[in-house]
Amino acid sequence: MGRIAIVGAGIGGLTAALALAREGFSVEVLERAAVLEEVGAGIQLGPNASRILIRLGLAERLAPVVVVPEGMDVRSGRSGDTILSAELGDAVAARYGAPWWVVHRGDLQAALAEAAREDRSIQLRTGAAVSAVTEVAGGIAVATGDGDCLADAVIGADGVRSAVRRALGDGSGPVFRRRTAWRATLPVADAPRALRGRRLGLWLGPNAHVVHYPLRGGAAVNVVAFVEDGAPMEGWSGPGEAADLMSRFAGWAGPLRDLLAAAPGWTRWSLADRPVWFGPGQGAATLIGDAAHAMLPFAAQGGAMAIEDAAVVARLAAGRRDDLAGAFRAYEQARRGRVKAVQQLAARNGAIYHLTGPMAFARDTAMRLMGGERLVARQDWIYRFGA
Ligand SMILES: Cc1cc2nc3c(=O)[nH]c(=O)nc-3n(C[C@H](O)[C@H](O)[C@H](O)COP(=O)(O)OP(=O)(O)OC[C@H]3O[C@@H](n4cnc5c(N)ncnc54)[C@H](O)[C@@H]3O)c2cc1C
Repeated sequence: MGRIAIVGAGIGGLTAALALAREGFSVEVLERAAVLEEVGAGIQLGPNASRILIRLGLAERLAPVVVVPEGMDVRSGRSGDTILSAELGDAVAARYGAPWWVVHRGDLQAALAEAAREDRSIQLRTGAAVSAVTEVAGGIAVATGDGDCLADAVIGADGVRSAVRRALGDGSGPVFRRRTAWRATLPVADAPRALRGRRLGLWLGPNAHVVHYPLRGGAAVNVVAFVEDGAPMEGWSGPGEAADLMSRFAGWAGPLRDLLAAAPGWTRWSLADRPVWFGPGQGAATLIGDAAHAMLPFAAQGGAMAIEDAAVVARLAAGRRDDLAGAFRAYEQARRGRVKAVQQLAARNGAIYHLTGPMAFARDTAMRLMGGERLVARQDWIYRFGA
């Protein structure tokens, strides 16, 4: 007993591979992409996620690519006035015993893949698109374009359009949530001077919001503008026209418009989530990350939940080596309520961030009264995970 196939070398799949290898399992990771190239943009990792990566021994490897933001400023998109500020650097480290990180998804994936390649218990196979998962005598057969892989158990970590989820019996797909994310990365020298600091910015306005933060040691700025749209794009992501985006932010504060105008190019992502589903509830197969519970990015926790899943599934598998099906059921039970709650929080935040008129005024007033420290503390239930 002890050979586990993981489908997908994204954040969740690679973290699970490392966590399972630490527990003595032999792991084969099957990744569709021929090369792990830079996909995505910046992501935030709260202390619940950084704590796990640090425990896996990745702190030194990640140090050159992560930034610890000093604080966060929530602003009115129209006036540019600061609604509240929160400290994130030392304050978060002191409160949670782990840092708040921002990192390019590609840099994080590259660091995880490098650690996986150095681990003799992990075999990372690229160019291996999984199309079927079948229970056979002696284990589970995972079919790829270039041959089957036979394992004792399989973990689907293949993202929001998971083939493993389909193979395990869920024929549904992602649910478009009428939001599009426009993402760009620009050299810090091109950003307006007022927005160049090591701080996270959140700008709230009618039917839209913007998030920005430093990346790559502060050399770059990551910008994501969220707007409302009636239908998903063909293929779910693709390039976006700057003029189109700028027209959506007509009337917003000058520094924010300057930041948007400085971006060299935009990629759009139609945003979707999926009902929480870990699999049919039998056999030695389960799902982690977006495959199980893709969520909207408005709690900045999708990747973090994949990392938590990875840690939990590895711990429970280690406790039941001869009964991986049982370990997976325990994992699913342990995770279901939490990921559902975070998914719901993300959807709620998305609605609150885009309020208009008197409701927006009430939101801003409530936020001012709450202040930054309490805003962060309200997420204790998320950030204290595993502390
Ligand atoms: C605009 C935006 C902002 C975000 N911001 C944040 C944030 O601030 N913080 C945060 O924590 N999260 C954030 N997220 C979410 C985060 O990016 C995802 O939740 C996270 O990447 C999910 O990780 P995963 O490993 O489950 O899937 P993925 O990272 O999608 O990886 C899936 C992997 O599986 C591979 N694959 C797919 N199909 C197959 C197949 N058939 N066979 C083999 N391999 C396959 C893919 O090539 C990929 O490598 C954001 C998302 C968006 C869209």
